[in-house]
Amino acid sequence: MIKLLIPDSYYESVFFVDRNKLKDMGIKGIIIDIDNTLIPWEEKEADNKVFTFINNLIEDGFKICIISNNTKKRVDKFNEIFNLPAIHNAGKPKKSPYIKAMKLLKTNSKNTAVIGDQIFTDVLGGNRLGLYTILVNPISSKEFVWTRIVRKLEKILIKKILKEID
Ligand SMILES: [Mg+2]
Repeated sequence: MIKLLIPDSYYESVFFVDRNKLKDMGIKGIIIDIDNTLIPWEEKEADNKVFTFINNLIEDGFKICIISNNTKKRVDKFNEIFNLPAIHNAGKPKKSPYIKAMKLLKTNSKNTAVIGDQIFTDVLGGNRLGLYTILVNPISSKEFVWTRIVRKLEKILIKKILKEID
């Protein structure tokens, strides 16, 4: 079980994710979370930094799909300027949204990466299917109470994880 909670890599921020490394690994598709990965939980729209980040990925040839456990309204509003394939109310860490995303991207578990800020949703879901999982620090500290409890557990796990990955 613990293995399924360990990401393949970890970055302090989504903006530090190494695109060249992903390219070299043969990653073609990127499944990405919105809340606290790209924008703070309380924000609705992408700022310039996020816009540039997503566009750089697209220019580098990556195909991107959003999967979010949040509502259609939330996902649609964020996605307005990007018009990316997107799955709302995904129910991560269920496998189904990841499988659906790979279908939309026409990629498979060998050439798809997941980027997200939560071990128990983003990373766990991706690892269950053998995708390349990337954990990033959450952008905002304003979160649901439940998420905050999970975070405490995640902090403990991250310390363990950092010892295990290179
Ligand atoms: Mg998130």
